[in-house]
Amino acid sequence: MNEIVRDAQAAVTGTSLDPQDWTEFRALAHRMLDETIDGIANVRARPVWQPIPDEVRAALRAEVPRNATDLAEVYRQFSEHVAPYATGNVHPGFMGWVHGGGTAVGMLAEMLAAGLNANLGGRDHMPIEVERQIVDWMRRLFAFPQGASGIFVTGTSMANLMAVLVARTDALGALARQHGIGNDGALLTAYASKAAHGCISRAMDIAGFGTDALRKINVDADHRIDVAALRAQIATDREVGFKPFLVAASAGTVDIGAIDDLRAIADLCREEGIWFHVDGAFGALAILSPELTPLLDGIELADSIALDFHKWGQVPYDAGFLLVRDGERHRQAFAQPAAYLQREARGLAAGAVWPCDLGPDLSRGFRALKTWFTLKTFGTDRLGQVITRSCALAKYLEARVLAEPRLELLAPVNLNIVCFRYRADNAVNREIVADIQESGIATPSGTTLDGRFAIRAAIVNHRTGETDIDALLAAVLEFGARRTDGGLIEIEAPPLAAQ
Ligand SMILES: *Cc1c(COP(=O)(O)O)cnc(C)c1O
Repeated sequence: MNEIVRDAQAAVTGTSLDPQDWTEFRALAHRMLDETIDGIANVRARPVWQPIPDEVRAALRAEVPRNATDLAEVYRQFSEHVAPYATGNVHPGFMGWVHGGGTAVGMLAEMLAAGLNANLGGRDHMPIEVERQIVDWMRRLFAFPQGASGIFVTGTSMANLMAVLVARTDALGALARQHGIGNDGALLTAYASKAAHGCISRAMDIAGFGTDALRKINVDADHRIDVAALRAQIATDREVGFKPFLVAASAGTVDIGAIDDLRAIADLCREEGIWFHVDGAFGALAILSPELTPLLDGIELADSIALDFHKWGQVPYDAGFLLVRDGERHRQAFAQPAAYLQREARGLAAGAVWPCDLGPDLSRGFRALKTWFTLKTFGTDRLGQVITRSCALAKYLEARVLAEPRLELLAPVNLNIVCFRYRADNAVNREIVADIQESGIATPSGTTLDGRFAIRAAIVNHRTGETDIDALLAAVLEFGARRTDGGLIEIEAPPLAAQ
């Protein structure tokens, strides 16, 4: 656009929210971009996380901002009060929860998507083609047939809920969408292991079945669902008149990264005529790692898979995804006739199945773009290597724990999650976790396994290396010694950077 056109446009839109002075805006925008890039590039110089001082919380509280504030001033407040007190999952020392590290590439794509401000609920525009491209890539990676469908959602919690709804409509027929789940619906039962994520239980609640309709099956020593017990529970339920309709298998449990025997479950579901869903929130993307793919054997037989690109896929939050084998069944669970959503043969209202036919959202952002940029820029092989490396680092941590008499391993290391403890009671270990988090050195989390409090390290971030594992262990030993002997700690914390 030349200068004259630009000036003329600025002049006619006095009420618009565009900047009065684009030159000044541009300079500030470049500074924001530079400082954000610096923040990512120099992330190691910062503490992983730091407690929020009371003054900082107080500084944010304010009346409804009726009057304008300079963009530069709002940005200053962000830089001082928000950015330094984020979760810390960009940092290589973040190991507490299964959070992705994000990338600078993903950050740029998110900015580009915001510039387009596209609404991906429907209609005929190229951003939807980008989403469809990713659906096709996922279909190929998981060896799903043509006709499979997929959709971006906030996260796996939502994707699991939608899978429950698709399975519900499949079991009860489309009329249940009009009449409600009724007496038949009250008999439907679903199955997951005791180690399954809590959002599956919540999905059963939200879908109207109640959490009791989810049977929680015992796990073996490796936290994999006991398939014989699953089979027996299904038989018992049938005997007394229930209608088993869904098994939600775990591909990567959140506690220790266990992957259920997906092939055995697939066979059982096929025999029983039950919907086979896989919660692969983080684990499903292990399909990108040739070393790990065998662990997912049988996932290609699933009726649906929920996964997150924002975990092991390193796409910035949020980017959850649901893939459904039979796209028509997926559509039948959500599509709705509405005059204002009428499809035309040509023009902007053209296009076949719209994303709003595949889930509860109408307006939707362009999550697909940051995923497309991430997959293309790095290539899926490289992303797979990151995943393989996370598991190698977990093995490294496991070996170091086993070699250290003051530490004890509490669960087998299946993938990228290590649960261990300092040889002391639960209370001491709980303190150690909080001590380390507050030190800014690393952020492990805590979980309870068989009544024992475990220090949990989930290695997801592509920036994490052996030195970060070493720093975590050194911190556990130092704080452990301090909490048990009253000895002094001598750990070099990263400088609390001013930014
Ligand atoms: C993270 C996770 C979820 C929930 O996913 P969100 O993206 O946080 O909604 C579900 N299941 C498992 C196994 C997870 O790891």
